[in-house]
Amino acid sequence: MAEKITPRATDYSQWYIDIVINAKLADYSPVKGCMVIRPRGYALWENVQHVLDGMFKATGHSNAYFPMLIPESFLKKEAEHVEGFSPELAVVTHAGGEKLEEPLVIRPTSETIIWSTYKKWIQSYRDLPLLINQWANVVRWEKRTRLFLRTTEFLWQEGHTAHATAAEAQEETLRMLGVYKTFAEEYMALPVLEGEKSASEKFAGAVKTYSIEAMMQDRKALQAGTSHNLGQNFAKAFEVTFQTKEGTLDHVWASSWGVSTRLIGALIMTHSDDKGLVVPPKLAPIEAVVVPILRKDNSAEVIAYAKSIGDELRATGLKVETDLDETQSSGWKFAEWEMVGVPVRIEAGPKDMQNNQAVLVRRDTGEKLFVAKADIAAKVKELLILIQQNLYDRALQNRLDHTYQLSTWAEFTDLMKGDAGFVEAAWCGSAKCETEVKEATKATIRNLPFALQDKPVDKPCLKCGVPGQHWAIWAKSY
Ligand SMILES: [Zn+2]
Repeated sequence: MAEKITPRATDYSQWYIDIVINAKLADYSPVKGCMVIRPRGYALWENVQHVLDGMFKATGHSNAYFPMLIPESFLKKEAEHVEGFSPELAVVTHAGGEKLEEPLVIRPTSETIIWSTYKKWIQSYRDLPLLINQWANVVRWEKRTRLFLRTTEFLWQEGHTAHATAAEAQEETLRMLGVYKTFAEEYMALPVLEGEKSASEKFAGAVKTYSIEAMMQDRKALQAGTSHNLGQNFAKAFEVTFQTKEGTLDHVWASSWGVSTRLIGALIMTHSDDKGLVVPPKLAPIEAVVVPILRKDNSAEVIAYAKSIGDELRATGLKVETDLDETQSSGWKFAEWEMVGVPVRIEAGPKDMQNNQAVLVRRDTGEKLFVAKADIAAKVKELLILIQQNLYDRALQNRLDHTYQLSTWAEFTDLMKGDAGFVEAAWCGSAKCETEVKEATKATIRNLPFALQDKPVDKPCLKCGVPGQHWAIWAKSY
């Protein structure tokens, strides 16, 4: 199995595809740009959904569902929104054998359909805040497929909230960015930088967009989640007003926020290695696998021994599979379970049976431990915590090792031509400099990080040399 994976050092992008295909996470579809999510990939997404859904509900949100078909005229109501999304829209013009009077857009995001509905639901300050999340699919036309990272149809969640004041909308926007950061770091073992997007990178129709950005192993950035303060833009476009406590009439304030199946791409690219997928234990569909090592003379006894280990572990609440396939060698099975990223492998052979023990192997480091049978459950639980922490530490170290404070254009272009990485540098605030940097190096401003907000900007703009206005993180990105 393992020889099917192109080493990261040889071709990072092929390595990624090899893992997605060989770990059976996703497959290509007959329609270019779309993807099939296979059971192993979908199980990861279900775990992401499960945890995030709990976090949304704990912060007061409820789930609802809005239609995927949106009248085309709705998108035109918010000027920036339609301009931003037009190039990516898929439009239904015919249905039921007839040309439609008004074309229907397949949702690229749901602000318009949701705000047209909120108009009916919101009349008074007593109807606010309205805190709704939707789990759905969206379509944004892509010419090139990169499984999980860039596909025409993808799965996501989109939160859409309505508030009585600008301050509450801003508070909600940042609260949900914080939820994403917590989820990324504590569950995905993915260290992220929170910050504000530059004006040219903000969501079409937003007042402010914030993102969390992570560094992949090839030192490119991946935007792992976004949260937008929409101000009153959509409320004005859809005439959503409410009676305030004071009896006056005002437009409603809004936020929206989302993460998508791209997170699975981030998970793969951050933690995996040349043997295959590596899954953070907290999101692993299978936490440990028991593999019996069979010899001809006593295979039935060894199988029974392995089964009893699996049963004991499951009884303690662990998600464990016992691999009883007798048609493959144990070496082949080891490679297969490494490929799919199960955090802990438990090997049980005739000798282990004699000694009433097993060999535990960590997926992240390959370290082997001999453990007495009675202690296996406790040891596996301990290893899962250690692996989760090690994956986070490794990813953070990668980011720290490849983050640079640069102040000259020459240093910057040299770095982007070579190893690349994250660059903390001053920016004058002009879109012209951003465009020129992008054209020359393919690097963009990922965000203006909160972590550097209080540091005086004492350096000139990376590109034009005038006094800097903001600290920015520049990087190439997915
Ligand atoms: Zn500049």
